[in-house]
Amino acid sequence: MFKSKKSRTNRFAAVANQHVSVGRDSMLDSEYPFRLNMYLDPPTDEITIEEFEIFALDRLQVLKAIESAKLRNLNDEQFKKDVQYAVDKYLPMHSNTAFDLISERRKDHISHFVLRLAYCRSDESREWFLRQEAALFKYRLLEENVKDRSAFLESAKLDWHVVTAEQKQAIQNQLERCVPLKIKHNVKEYVEQQTYFEVPFEKVPSLVRQRAIYLHQGKAYVPMEHQTSLVMEEFTSRLESMLVATAKALPRLEEDDRLKPILLNVEKQYVGKVYGAEQVVDGDLTAANVDGAVEQHAPLCMRTLHDALVQDKHLKHSGRMQFGLFLKAIGLSVDQALLYWRMAFSKKTDDEFQKNYAYNIRHNYGLEGRRVSYGAYSCSKIIKGDAPSAGDHHGCPFRHFSSGNLEARLYKDKLLPNQVRDIMNLIQGSHYQLACTKYFEFTHPGHDRIDTIQHPNAYYELSVASAAETEQGEPMDVER
Ligand code: SF4
Repeated sequence: MFKSKKSRTNRFAAVANQHVSVGRDSMLDSEYPFRLNMYLDPPTDEITIEEFEIFALDRLQVLKAIESAKLRNLNDEQFKKDVQYAVDKYLPMHSNTAFDLISERRKDHISHFVLRLAYCRSDESREWFLRQEAALFKYRLLEENVKDRSAFLESAKLDWHVVTAEQKQAIQNQLERCVPLKIKHNVKEYVEQQTYFEVPFEKVPSLVRQRAIYLHQGKAYVPMEHQTSLVMEEFTSRLESMLVATAKALPRLEEDDRLKPILLNVEKQYVGKVYGAEQVVDGDLTAANVDGAVEQHAPLCMRTLHDALVQDKHLKHSGRMQFGLFLKAIGLSVDQALLYWRMAFSKKTDDEFQKNYAYNIRHNYGLEGRRVSYGAYSCSKIIKGDAPSAGDHHGCPFRHFSSGNLEARLYKDKLLPNQVRDIMNLIQGSHYQLACTKYFEFTHPGHDRIDTIQHPNAYYELSVASAAETEQGEPMDVER
């Protein structure tokens, strides 16, 4: 797949020649007949290492723009504007009526597969990539003109069968029972006018969950109205399984030592700053000043764990992991961590502490077992992780607290009623990180707006910087 820059130029010359002599249409027909792509086949083209990285980073800008637009809860129009801006800048994709489509589509194809390699490594990365790619695909699908969209779907080898008029008549009553509530007054006409597809029911889990379709003998009968859902289910389920397959093949691919550093660098761009994965040799924080630092600067998730630890003199495993790795990432060395946890677990004997807890602490610092120095949990890992059950205190309060408990906590932290209302509204829309960001802004007056909180340790650093600026009497310059 890779060539030197010279070979690549030759290849491009060849493409250019073909472009002129063979003609653009035949190349397009054979390689990229559509703007939309299910990405079933990897590129066989030759590319340089530089292109490998640049294409991936450009696509990443688009995926990040999509993520940011979703996190900011933009309305449809603003969402479209933001995403289109990023697409035009980094990954332009014109419809079949425009010129120079091959290089655009080639870049789209290659960049997808490079990011697939970079983001197949962990569940968290796979999930993130899948979510953003699905959003990009959906955006393009909805923007596509009817002719190209239909032609693309026809070519996509989707396992759907159009229900014939006779079949439809035979199940007319059942189909009528599944018509959406909004058109209950004209049910018969609706069914008669819709084109229905028969698909294996496992291909449309979200429609099955919503009870929005008729199911019979393992088949789902999906009206044309749900075509977008149908295509999206197909796209995500295919990509999901291909990502798992890529993860299995990755160790072999990484034997090429040119690829590994690039893939790690690309992956890091999304994960952002990795907090706490490096060894803390001599951090600023000591066992004696952890309490003050956490109370003053830590986000609500960590203060909840800290409160529980102080009160119960104990935390269960998930809580110890979440809080312990956070402390490590704010600068608590392993010696100080052992001291801190020993003091915190004051009801345990020395023997119990050594036997049941000390090993795990050293393990987090890479001193036991596989000797991996673990990084602190990001917001998305905490929010999507196992929900706390009775006696647990891990998780994200904005996601896992009941509304009554959260409201009480917000009032305890001296938020005003309108501020509590703003946060609760965000939570109702499942915007937990935005709620946390608002909480930061309300509890750190002097900030108009900060980027969405993505990591508890980013919250902590912002809070420390904010306090330092306030002490100096200067407004804080938050990097955007
Ligand atoms: S959004 Fe992140 S930082 Fe904020 S409370 Fe939840 S997990 Fe913690």
